[in-house]
Amino acid sequence: MHCWCGWLVHHVKRVINMDKQLLSMLVCPLCKGKLKLDNEAGELLCTFDGLAYPLQDGVPVMLESEARRMSEEEKLAKAEQSAKPAASRD
Ligand SMILES: [Zn+2]
Repeated sequence: MHCWCGWLVHHVKRVINMDKQLLSMLVCPLCKGKLKLDNEAGELLCTFDGLAYPLQDGVPVMLESEARRMSEEEKLAKAEQSAKPAASRD
């Protein structure tokens, strides 16, 4: 039986590999800001513009016309996630 979880793990690993090689070079075409990778959704997020650029077969589609517009709520949530330092608790 085909395991869907296996596919998901494989897919996420591919996205993470892409992350290491490409994400450091990728910037938002609008604001030239750094993009944040959303592994779960398979999207590259610009929290500044509130745009989510899709990945097609692991290849980012850096077109504003193809990007999904995030809601204000989602935008804030993603921005908070990225702004929060990992070890800020004492
Ligand atoms: Zn942007």
